[in-house]
Amino acid sequence: MSANASRLQAIQQIANRKPLPVAKTAFLGDIWAEDVFNLDRMEWALSKTAYKAIRKTVQTGEPLDPATADIAAAAMKEWAIAKGAKFFSHIFYPMTNITAEKHDGFIVTDPNGHAITEFSGSLLIKGEPDGSSFPNGSLRMTNAARGYTAWDPTSPAFIMHTDNGATLMIPSVFMSWTGEALDKKIPLLRSNAAMNKSAQRVLRLMGETDIATLNSSCGAEQEYFLVDAHFANLRPDLLLAGRTLFGAPPAKGQEFDDHYFGAIPARVQVFMQDYEDQLYKLGIPAKTHHNEVAPGQFEVAPYFESANIAADHQQLMMTLMKATAKKHGFLCLLHEKPFAGVNGSGKHVNWSVGNATQGNLLDPGSTPHENLLFLLFCGAVIRGVHLYGPLLRAVIASASNDHRLGANEAPPAILSVYLGDQLEQVFNDIMEGRVAQSTVGGEMDLGLSQILKFERDPGDRNRTSPFAFTGNRFEFRAVGSSQSVSGPLVAMNTMLADSLDWIADKLEADLGTGSTPAQAVLTVLQELMAQHGKVIFGGDGYSAHWHETAVSERGLPNLPTTAEALPALREASVVELFSRTGVFTPVELESRFEVYAEQYLLSIAVEARLVINMAKTLIYPAAVSYLSTLASTTSGLAAMGVQLDHTTAGTVAKHANAMLAAVDDLSAALAKSDFGSTEEHMRFCAGEIRALMDKVRVHADALEMEVADELWPLPKYQEMLYIK
Ligand code: ADP
Ligand code: MG
Repeated sequence: MSANASRLQAIQQIANRKPLPVAKTAFLGDIWAEDVFNLDRMEWALSKTAYKAIRKTVQTGEPLDPATADIAAAAMKEWAIAKGAKFFSHIFYPMTNITAEKHDGFIVTDPNGHAITEFSGSLLIKGEPDGSSFPNGSLRMTNAARGYTAWDPTSPAFIMHTDNGATLMIPSVFMSWTGEALDKKIPLLRSNAAMNKSAQRVLRLMGETDIATLNSSCGAEQEYFLVDAHFANLRPDLLLAGRTLFGAPPAKGQEFDDHYFGAIPARVQVFMQDYEDQLYKLGIPAKTHHNEVAPGQFEVAPYFESANIAADHQQLMMTLMKATAKKHGFLCLLHEKPFAGVNGSGKHVNWSVGNATQGNLLDPGSTPHENLLFLLFCGAVIRGVHLYGPLLRAVIASASNDHRLGANEAPPAILSVYLGDQLEQVFNDIMEGRVAQSTVGGEMDLGLSQILKFERDPGDRNRTSPFAFTGNRFEFRAVGSSQSVSGPLVAMNTMLADSLDWIADKLEADLGTGSTPAQAVLTVLQELMAQHGKVIFGGDGYSAHWHETAVSERGLPNLPTTAEALPALREASVVELFSRTGVFTPVELESRFEVYAEQYLLSIAVEARLVINMAKTLIYPAAVSYLSTLASTTSGLAAMGVQLDHTTAGTVAKHANAMLAAVDDLSAALAKSDFGSTEEHMRFCAGEIRALMDKVRVHADALEMEVADELWPLPKYQEMLYIK
């Protein structure tokens, strides 16, 4: 028998692996934000006037004048060069989930051939990468693909180190020559501005006079898997698609729940500490880390920050996580469903809005007045999720997240809101007109004193809800682990802006007829609940009953696949929402649909080709080699007068043949190209292609359970999940 040496060798290599020499981690105070050109550093390096101008921009989002940019550029260059940087790069976030960079040297030569460094305000402000290599949907036609990057002064520049050098990184927006957004940052900034504008309106109507700029905030919990690189290197599916396309279920899965919050394996802990030191140097406040539900699965979460900075930091976290894992001999999997039958990975996006003067508006306050504001903002979210559920589903739609949503271990693809018993009761009482107004100590009490005592109880969390209120924020739990948080944040900010405007219109009319603010709030919330209360759901989101009644009784759409979800971006109400709020022009939105649809089609095509390739060149040969072993053994034994029964050979042959037949069907389906529309093509992928891939897998996985272990070429689930 010719053993498949590489897999068995990998197990040996891991067993004999010498641990990475570990440096002691540094003191937090010594490294915190040491590689960030933040406001503190600018205050030290800039003139008072320049510093004040920049601080104002950072706090209010107002544009910066070119003279100040020149001063900032000079100081930034000095600082970066002192830290060993020879290059700088605008860092930006194209419509794919990736992070893009274009590096330029500080160097120029003078007429005598001497090297000098140069970095002006205009270089800081504007870069010109070639836009043509980034997908930009229909914008490609209109703008001949020229794009440029522009510094976002509200997100601090920082230094990225490699073993022998350093680069100054400048967070930037990326737009077409004619000003259309080609990235994920511009819409996030615009959505924040839209939310701020509408929130200001509501707050003024409610009698607030001193109102600072409102910002959305985000704290994202990132789940991920670590697989030893020796195994990963033998799995083309992990390397190219980020998930296993084959693999029989292990004898032991996650049923014991013994990994969740268990002791972190020492090697993983060393990785985490190395990773977190890098985050701290970059001013990223990593706050928690622990094991997750599945074996080999972990989570990291930073303390929340303003949405724009949190989104930049999130991208950086994903990049650094992969790079650091590699250094520690792991492949880091951010895919939403790397292993079938084992829990997938999500990215819970915790989100709220607030400012320096009114505080967090999704935190019930300690006075009835604060509670009124809270109820209005919370009501606005409820309305938003109900009206724009399909949009929220569309912004988390991807080929990979489809494996997770609705798979009975992650939130369903039906968007509903979980409020918790207490708050749900308050909103129901308002809807039924049961909230009595009474005067307590000269102030209006709406019978809301109960939410003054609002307690956060993590035990009471509804883990089955895609969108849950968690005490002082909402948690969008259906977001996928590999996704940028920007799309979800844009959708949430924009739907909130829309709802707050709707509320402001109603309040304005009501206050005009002489109602008190409290009466007006009750009236508007009563109407809001009558129209949108159906989206509130506190029960089990995994249950079959919910899947049925959500649709039939409440009219909430269930959009299980990207093919069904993505077209929401083309719906008239969504196009109108985004243009009215100034977040996307119709052309920008259409280009997003096209880019995301293309990504979906491409990733399924890559997976399908891999399935064909691996089935033919790795799995079939293993089956045949086992059959030939059986054949020669059987004839050898027969010569000795010993009989083996042939059931195993029969089973192996049956599955090997059926697998190849399914591979042929898949190849034929993949060759199909006469689709009437992108939507039709997406539906074909979600339906036929995926079903055929599954069919190949069923037979391949059956073979894995039959073929001799030493002949099996692919590292098995129990090895990848348990051997560290
Ligand atoms: P859990 O696993 O219980 O949901 P974690 O502590 O892992 O809680 O994550 C909660 C996340 O929510 C953290 O990133 C935290 O900083 C963030 N968060 C807390 N308050 C807010 C807020 N007001 N706005 C946005 N995010 C918040
Ligand atoms: Mg959470």
